[in-house]
Amino acid sequence: MKSRLFFLYIISAILGIIVVCLIIFGREEKFEEIQHVEKVSIEELASKDKIALYDVQNGKIRDVDLKYYLYCVTASEIPFKYEIEAIKAQVIVARTYLYNKIINDGEENADVCTDYKHCQAFNELDKLEQIWKDKGFTDEEIAIGERKIKEAVEDTDGIIITYQGKVINALFHASSPIRTEDAKAIWSNEDIPYLKSVENEEDLDYERRNSKVSISFEDFKNVLVSNSYIESLSKEEFSNIHISEYTQSERVKSIEVGNTKIKAEDLRQLFGLNSTLFTMEISDDSIEFNVLGFGHGVGMSQVGANHYAKEGYTYEQIIHHYYTDVDIENVKRGEI
Ligand SMILES: [Zn+2]
Repeated sequence: MKSRLFFLYIISAILGIIVVCLIIFGREEKFEEIQHVEKVSIEELASKDKIALYDVQNGKIRDVDLKYYLYCVTASEIPFKYEIEAIKAQVIVARTYLYNKIINDGEENADVCTDYKHCQAFNELDKLEQIWKDKGFTDEEIAIGERKIKEAVEDTDGIIITYQGKVINALFHASSPIRTEDAKAIWSNEDIPYLKSVENEEDLDYERRNSKVSISFEDFKNVLVSNSYIESLSKEEFSNIHISEYTQSERVKSIEVGNTKIKAEDLRQLFGLNSTLFTMEISDDSIEFNVLGFGHGVGMSQVGANHYAKEGYTYEQIIHHYYTDVDIENVKRGEI
């Protein structure tokens, strides 16, 4: 009898512990949810003048001034020689990108990182000055450029881009002569209503407007085989490679190699093509890509923004041109 009673005690004790655990963890989960929502409120973002920046070079997280961060990103992402309205548009894109990142918890233990492939390019002031000097700019030109970027950060303070009240994913790229690209055509099946293909005008003298990449038959085959796109490639199949599909912006969507379709976006990464706006020329032992533009082509084109700014567009007009049906709002004035 005693042992049975003892057994019952143990069982009820275990059950009791389980119930208590469920209550505690259930509460914590709810608490986290509430914290998450509060963390991302626009009001809090608006009052935030420092951000936690994860420095990928030394693995450390540090607090930096928001304006300093925006200055360094803008100076790293767009030439200071560009028109002031294009630079202002870039600052707003950088601020919007950052806010979107914070809201969507895009960075572990920090707000944003310094890796241009993951977040936005970020060079410190001394590095920027060195880059500009290496490019041959004089001290005076650098000083003018620095003032221009500072002015763009100050004059657009608090301004971000929203779509139906939500901070957008402000994608941008260097150059897409003719048209920008619809985000859906490249990355997802999900329609992103503000990242549509729009017409684009760019200056012809942009140095990376045209580029060529030539790859030998052997290299082409080896890269595709080692990345498991194909198992083998005969000379005959090689000579029959052709474009199988275009996107709405006349970029290549995919090419056909043997019986395999390969996404143009994958080719861009695999062979270092500047964009997917290309034609191909195939000879006996090599394939040549003639490429137009630079980058994925989605969102704002920097070269285009500069072109429109020269034509008298304001930063608002530039942003409205590249991002469909968006609003430009100032979080510091409580516009959202
Ligand atoms: Zn990052």
